Formats: sequence, structure tokens, C-alpha cells
Amino acid sequence: MSNPLPRHAYFQGKIVPYSEARVGVATHALNYGTAVFGGIRAYWNAEKKRLFIFRPQDHYRRFLNSCRIMRMEFDHTPESLTDLTIELLRADGYQEDIYIRPLAYKADEQIGVRLHNLTDELTIFALPFGLYIKNDTAAHATISSWRRLDDNAIPARGKISGAYASSALIKTDAALAGFDEALVLTQEGHLSEGSAMNVFIVRDGALITPPITENILEGITRRSVIELARAELNLPVIERPIDRSEIYLCEELFLTGTAAQVTAVTRVDHRPVGNGEMGPITAQLRRLFEQVVRAEHPKYTHWNVAV
Ligand code: PMP
Repeated sequence: MSNPLPRHAYFQGKIVPYSEARVGVATHALNYGTAVFGGIRAYWNAEKKRLFIFRPQDHYRRFLNSCRIMRMEFDHTPESLTDLTIELLRADGYQEDIYIRPLAYKADEQIGVRLHNLTDELTIFALPFGLYIKNDTAAHATISSWRRLDDNAIPARGKISGAYASSALIKTDAALAGFDEALVLTQEGHLSEGSAMNVFIVRDGALITPPITENILEGITRRSVIELARAELNLPVIERPIDRSEIYLCEELFLTGTAAQVTAVTRVDHRPVGNGEMGPITAQLRRLFEQVVRAEHPKYTHWNVAV
């Protein structure tokens, strides 16, 4: 998947043309993965002719927590980062769906693996962005032979750049084997998540997702879907460990993430999920999610921040 380049970036304290946002090859974060990032979407509402950012404060709260894990400090709050993002998007002027990438990184051009005595920098950029998983109504997933990183190795709850080398191994092996995505198990063999998305299954009509102690990223989409399922669909939602064999027996399976949105998985390792077609709960949640993120659902407009 390729995407257009960003127009501007917030870089070294100001908004500059993207071509001016550059780092040297000796940069610590580039060599050691000592960076944390976020991924936020903003949706174009054609009727209101406005861009709406989806839950930016929640994304930035998690982003600042990731910074904390990596011993990075910024004079910022979720609100000030949201304001900065609005300023950036006004400079960009996009009138389409976009993806926003905040990145905090160890900026020193220095050799030596560590977190301390280094300079933290913050950058934000945005670019037009469509579907992340092209086949998002009928994805074919495989169970990865790679295991999920453990909280005592690189905490999944921090969105740490270095950890995504593992996600890249997972994604590429799945893609080159002809699958759309991968499901990843913990060291204990429980279902954890996808390469960059959380996972839900439906069994006996209940929605089940791994708890936050299963080495998952605490997804904002996951949290939104749990709330929507309970409040709008009256579904029981259970957070509990999921065995591998439940993947083969469940009625529905879907992935959630800012990039992946709500992606229906209809086959896992050449076995049909349920009857092999997108199930009714997945379909309803997809419709609801699409309304909510585009600021078209009156009950959830507190999640939409206008640019
Ligand atoms: N898990 C991982 C590993 C991810 O990278 C992402 C994407 N940020 C998610 C889950 C989904 O999180 P969110 O819904 O906040 O985008």
C-alpha cells in the first residue's frame, strides 16, 4: 500500500512544509526504535463540509502514556495536542478522509542504547488515507507462527515504534502467504490481537474480546465498539482469554483499529468463520461505527472534534 506524502508537519515546535521535516541517519530513534506513536483518523463529512477527528483526546491520552513508558516528557496535555492537530489540519486543508500520525522520538544523533540523557522531540503529520485492509468485508486471516510480544519484553500497551518490527514480521509473513491479516497468540497460546488491530469473536450471540492483560494495545476503536455493542445493540460483551480452538468454532470474527476500522474476517487458515460470510453483528457494528466516526450519529458527537 502506498500513500501520498503529507503536506505539512509539526516539527521542532512549528508547522513546516513536509519537505523540511527531516532527521539525520544517526538519529537514536531510527537506529534503536526509541520512539512512540499514535494513529488517529479524521473523517470528511460531505454534508457538513467539515473534517471531524475521531476521539483525539483519548488517542493523545494513550500517546502520552506511551511516552511515559519510554521516559519521554512533554509540556503537553491531550487537549493541547488536539489543538496542535487542528492547527496542522487547517494548514493542510484536506477535504477527504485522512490519517494523523503523532510521533515522539529520541532525537539525538548519538550511539548508545538507552532511554536516559537523550532529547525528546515531537512531530505530527497527516495524509489522505482510505481502506487499510482492502478486503474488509471478507478478510482471510492466518494464525501467525510469531508470538505476541510480552509486557515484560516490550509492553504492547505502549505504542512503541521498536515493537512494530514484530508486527512487520507478522504482517509480511501473512501477506506473502496470501492472507489479508494475521491473528497473533500470546506465549501461553491465547488469542491476543492482529498485527495492528484488536480482535473480537461472537460465540452464542455474545461478543468476546481478550482482556487488556493479554498483551494487547488498548485500542480506542476496541473501546468504542464495546460501548456501541452494549448501548446500541444490547449485546453482552465479555472480556476474557480466548483459546485458539474458539477461533475455529466462533460464529463471527472481526478486527478493530483506527486503520482497519471494523474489518470482517470470514476465513481463518482456509476454514470458514461461521458460514463463511460476514455475520449480522459485524455488519451492524460496521454500519454504526461508520455513522459514529463521520459525526452522523447524534448520540456520539462528543467523540467527534471538528477541524
Ligand atoms: N493493536 C495494535 C498492535 C495496533 O497497532 C493498533 C492500532 N493503533 C490497534 C491494536 C488498534 O488500536 P486503535 O483502535 O486505538 O487504533
